[in-house]
Amino acid sequence: QKILIIGGVAGGATAATRLRRLNEDDNIILFEKGEYISFANCGLPYHIGGEIKERDSLLLQTVEGMEQQYALDIRNFSEVTTIDPINNILSVLNHQTGETYTETFDKLIISTGAKAITPAIPGIETAENVFSLRNIPDMDLIKEYITKHAIQTVTVIGGGFIGLEMMENLKELDLDVQLVEMAPQVMPNIDVEMAQQLHTQINMHGVNLLLNDGLKEFKENGKKLLLTSGTVLDTDMTILSIGVTPENTLAKESGIELGFKNAIKVNEQLQTNYPAIFAIGDVIEVKDVVDGSPTNIPLAWPANRQGRLVADIINGIPAHYPGTQGTSVAKIFELTAASTGNSERMLKNKGIDFQVIHVHPNSHAGYYPGASPIHLKLLFGNDGKILGAQGVGTKGVDKRIDVIATAMKFGATADQLAEIELAYAPPYSSAKDPVNMLGYTAD
Ligand code: FAD
Repeated sequence: QKILIIGGVAGGATAATRLRRLNEDDNIILFEKGEYISFANCGLPYHIGGEIKERDSLLLQTVEGMEQQYALDIRNFSEVTTIDPINNILSVLNHQTGETYTETFDKLIISTGAKAITPAIPGIETAENVFSLRNIPDMDLIKEYITKHAIQTVTVIGGGFIGLEMMENLKELDLDVQLVEMAPQVMPNIDVEMAQQLHTQINMHGVNLLLNDGLKEFKENGKKLLLTSGTVLDTDMTILSIGVTPENTLAKESGIELGFKNAIKVNEQLQTNYPAIFAIGDVIEVKDVVDGSPTNIPLAWPANRQGRLVADIINGIPAHYPGTQGTSVAKIFELTAASTGNSERMLKNKGIDFQVIHVHPNSHAGYYPGASPIHLKLLFGNDGKILGAQGVGTKGVDKRIDVIATAMKFGATADQLAEIELAYAPPYSSAKDPVNMLGYTAD
């Protein structure tokens, strides 16, 4: 059959290679509107900061390499502009030649991702020093602007994980960094008492952190920022990082049904309201595994998982995507903050009853040098089922949240965390691991 894929990065590239592995004869064409396919979005901030030295190491695959290795037809600079879901035809604009043509399909996979939210803030039209970070060209522009204009002060708007990663990496370049966040806390996926530790860390690193404040207007061609509080900040450059929204234009215009936050509605087989059209990644609505409610969680793990599953489904292998747990992790200077499932705030908003415990054990045996506390928070229902967990600390946070994410996936109750036999030697843990401590405390 003829299978077309729109979007050549996380979800799209995964689907393409899996489709080929499962079937040698299918005609698989992948369209990517940009130049690059299969690049490492998640590494972009770290190349700006210099931690990832080689730009090329972000390019996981080239068009030629992937075409040869997997016998795929990959068309970059090729933007799909319309989909006719009744007749299974789409049109493509080749940005290099300006030519438009059509292609028919038996199956279509949409993996168009998300786009940065850029609100019509007054003054933005004349501000040439405003950027957001989504892809390689965005990264190149930011790097070039910093060098060319001998930038001193950068303001990051938004304290989600991309904003925080940008903040840290700009600091790595010895720039003066200010971070403006409208909420009373950074990292919305964790609760405020957990985020307080991040605030202390951010301040300690000399970042000017402004919480409970938002950007109201760009003044003097973006050289000054007027905030909602009336504060005026001087800035040489601004990074807008106030979140992303599903890249749904194509779907919307073709009559494909949208759901939560205008993400594409799909069933557990990742199928849209048109059975021959599938959608995956940041652009789709998923089920929150905690309560089955519709949500949109733009993260790399779900996009990769769905890319693989959709190829299985198209090849008749029984598979389904049950929902997203939202497990995530971020580095904020010396701290790691990670979470899985729902936060206390989310559970309260949904009216779900829960119990909560906090523990602060050492990352490993206190008598072995270098131990440091991990702040762990566990949320569980009245039936004991784990609903979410969060961790902040300098060491071993990712491991503990991953263990809890695994337990949660398989339906564990809070007290069962005491039963998990975890690896122990003094440099790594304690005979009662921090995860076990949560179980003992819940018991
Ligand atoms: P994408 O990987 O974004 O791919 C979509 C592609 O579709 C784009 O290349 C786009 O050009 C193309 N496209 C869109 N419309 C069309 C069209 N009409 N025609 C042709 N092509 C089109 N996630 C994590 O889990 N951990 C992290 O640490 C992390 N860090 C991140 C850091 C940054 C700076 C960014 C930007 C994202 C990060 N993410 C992270 C999110 C992660 O990258 C995404 O969740 C993931 O890439 C989503 O995959 P996708 O296939 O849905 O979309």
